[in-house]
Amino acid sequence: MSRHEGVSCDVCGKGNFRGKRYKCLVCYDYDLCAACYDGGATTNRHSLEHPVQCILTRSEYELYYGGEAVSFEHAMSYTCPYCGSMGFSESQLQDHVNVEHADSSIEVICPVCAALPHGDPNHLTEDFPAHLALEHRAGRDLDDPSIRHMRHMLHPGRWYVYMHI
Ligand SMILES: [Zn+2]
Ligand SMILES: [Zn+2]
Ligand SMILES: [Zn+2]
Ligand SMILES: [Zn+2]
Repeated sequence: MSRHEGVSCDVCGKGNFRGKRYKCLVCYDYDLCAACYDGGATTNRHSLEHPVQCILTRSEYELYYGGEAVSFEHAMSYTCPYCGSMGFSESQLQDHVNVEHADSSIEVICPVCAALPHGDPNHLTEDFPAHLALEHRAGRDLDDPSIRHMRHMLHPGRWYVYMHI
């Protein structure tokens, strides 16, 4: 899997392209190839202010991380779909969103779903913090009372909801 199968660049139209893929987290189903992204391409839909998620192909991932004992999921670096900050791990993104964007109700595309090989590439959610917590909560967090306590302190209302569904 060295190409982005079934994906075409929304700027130059190249299909099944190789190399890094940049997916807009605001525009629905909007992808850029590396050349267009690096060139700062915009369209009437997409502006440079939109956060984008960089997505690797499976073979690129193996190239970059080959030999290291990390899973694909944990090697990914995620972009915050609200403010565009980059370089989060899954759990860092979760903490960031819980602290910075807990009350945000803008519809965004989940960067974690988009980046995972078998995820939904265009998972739109109005409540991204809740989506992260419910769909992408790392199992180990549940066993760590200090993290649980911290979340409880930050957003007691939300946490209550999660625990009683
Ligand atoms: Zn392109
Ligand atoms: Zn966009
Ligand atoms: Zn953010
Ligand atoms: Zn997701």
